[in-house]
Amino acid sequence: MVIKSEDGRELRSFRFKDEDDSQEVRAVERRILLETFADQLPPEAIRFSSKLAKIGRSENGETLLELVDGTRLSAKQIVIGCDGVRSPVAKWMGFSEPKYVGHCAFRGLGFYPDGQPYEPRVSYVYGKGLRAGYVPVSPTKVYWFVCFNSPSPGPKITDPSILKNQSQELVRNWPSELLNIIDRTPDDTIIRTPLVDRWLWPAVSPSASSGSVVLVGDAWHPMTPNLGQGACCALEDAVVLAKKLADAINSGNGSVEGALKSYESERWPRIFPLTIRANLVGSLLQWENPVVCSVRNNVVIPKLIRIGPMLEHTNFACERL
Ligand SMILES: Cc1cc2nc3c(=O)[nH]c(=O)nc-3n(C[C@H](O)[C@H](O)[C@H](O)COP(=O)(O)OP(=O)(O)OC[C@H]3O[C@@H](n4cnc5c(N)ncnc54)[C@H](O)[C@@H]3O)c2cc1C
Repeated sequence: MVIKSEDGRELRSFRFKDEDDSQEVRAVERRILLETFADQLPPEAIRFSSKLAKIGRSENGETLLELVDGTRLSAKQIVIGCDGVRSPVAKWMGFSEPKYVGHCAFRGLGFYPDGQPYEPRVSYVYGKGLRAGYVPVSPTKVYWFVCFNSPSPGPKITDPSILKNQSQELVRNWPSELLNIIDRTPDDTIIRTPLVDRWLWPAVSPSASSGSVVLVGDAWHPMTPNLGQGACCALEDAVVLAKKLADAINSGNGSVEGALKSYESERWPRIFPLTIRANLVGSLLQWENPVVCSVRNNVVIPKLIRIGPMLEHTNFACERL
């Protein structure tokens, strides 16, 4: 990983393996990850374009799902709400809307049909109230982001060329490779996301499950991306939940509802501290004050931070399925 200031000066660089032998970073394109999982399933297992409009419960305890196309489904067994940060399932279970944290991110995938020229490492650039980064995700694609302060999430912009211009404008005088990667980004891969999270206070926040309905991933614990752990945690949730359900079903003496409660108690101590930590890290990295940013860039990052302990949160081993 390399960290630079906005004028291109290198503040710090390190190899994860040198900091902590168990550390490793993998950059994976989301589409490839999803296709890899989907390929493991029978072809008819996934029904695409099935947007959930409403969820409820029948008198006999079955979960009723109504899709926007009018289809009604009655779930006799388990419903897993993994429908993301604006989850209608979470809303139905009494969760509040995730809270906007004061910054938004542009993201995209730079495309180099003849091969991208970057080393396999994560590069960050820290400015004042603004930061950016990029990392190669394949021989031809480079993921990038630009994160900026904004008092409100702002209007939804759907025209990708406007998004591209806005993100380039933010980093116009920054190291040129960033502008080059944004330039090489097909318009349709650029998105702008207001960053949000939801803190799951014990005894205040609803439970992750209600009857045989359970939440997984962002639907349950939206967190800001400052530690790069949201999707990792969603995957961990899936492994733990699958294991709990398999144990309950195979042993024949555990209830499904008990398995869902056990999943929640195992996952909560992992995700709640991470959500808070990600939020705090974001606030520190989005500082605008020039003096504070100068201390961060000239003292804290090059001299004070011990990287190994800082990345300790990535060391989480799920049991094998
Ligand atoms: C700028 C940014 C950078 C990030 N970087 C990282 C990173 O480096 N590492 C990391 O681990 N995480 C990162 N994350 C977080 C990561 O993207 C999320 O945590 C992850 O996508 C959560 O997965 P999920 O399956 O729970 O939800 P999602 O990926 O949001 O998937 C939800 C799915 O539900 C579907 N859906 C939504 N509503 C409905 C409905 N009504 N009916 C039916 N389906 C519906 C959606 O179409 C989608 O397919 C980042 C997030 C942001 C915003």
